Amino acid sequence: MSELGTRVVWVDGDLINVEEAHLSLLTHSLHYAGAVFEGERAYGGRVFKLEAHTKRLLDSARTMHLQHGFGLEDIMEATEAVLRRNGLQDAYVRPLIWRGAESLNITNSALSTHVLIAAVPSLVERASKRLALHLGRWRKPHPQALPPQCKGTGHYSMMIVSQLEAKQAGFDDALLLDHRGYVAEATSSNVFFVQGKRLITPIADTFLNGITRQTILEMASQMGLQSEERHIHLEEIGQFEECFLTGTAAEVKSVECIVDGVRAIRYEASSRTNLLQSAYRQWVAR
Ligand code: PMP
Repeated sequence: MSELGTRVVWVDGDLINVEEAHLSLLTHSLHYAGAVFEGERAYGGRVFKLEAHTKRLLDSARTMHLQHGFGLEDIMEATEAVLRRNGLQDAYVRPLIWRGAESLNITNSALSTHVLIAAVPSLVERASKRLALHLGRWRKPHPQALPPQCKGTGHYSMMIVSQLEAKQAGFDDALLLDHRGYVAEATSSNVFFVQGKRLITPIADTFLNGITRQTILEMASQMGLQSEERHIHLEEIGQFEECFLTGTAAEVKSVECIVDGVRAIRYEASSRTNLLQSAYRQWVAR
């Protein structure tokens, strides 16, 4: 059993005990990033939107030229097998595709590609603590610098730094701007604002178009809420009534305040956000 509470992982086509799985210290993706991954969540033994996550994983791998022999069905079946073999109902699932340890050159045709699927019990508690954000000092990269829809480890270097800096300053997370200065997202979740019966969220042209974000937009139209995707200036965020973050792990989290250096914006304790939060929980459990 690993410290994270998993016994069996799937690696390159085989289910093996986690203790038997070893990784070389010379693993290419450890030195140069270049791995891709997913973050999925299982409810009652089933991964919510497994196909969408698996497609995104395979698209990310293609973008990073990570060639492996597994298709959509292979990965989906393997994911289900990992949950079954670990006896997990509510779990966080982590597929990862990375380059092996055959060379320390930036590129080398001898480099292999590997695929892992691991699952750990869901620890993310559904406490209703509202989040305090500050404005992160690092910006999302230009979409021609790093492909925003590729969930590659390269993106996460400054996401980690931004979250660490937010926590050191006493906040829960950072709100990040893009290279143009528009509001983008938080370090591992997308952002929504609420104004009356309208949800307003940034256009996902410089950041990950989250699967939870897409689900919320789909749910909103069924709940009679209007939604608008548009560029949002930092100066505007004080005029919205509510704010929340969305992500597979976070689900829907209400934001209490955003401190942007000159002002502290407080958001209402959230009638529409609460509604969406409970509707999302029902949606994932269907
Ligand atoms: N942005 C970033 C940077 C993320 O890491 C995540 C989590 N995958 C999200 C947004 C939300 O994406 P999803 O809803 O697909 O989990």
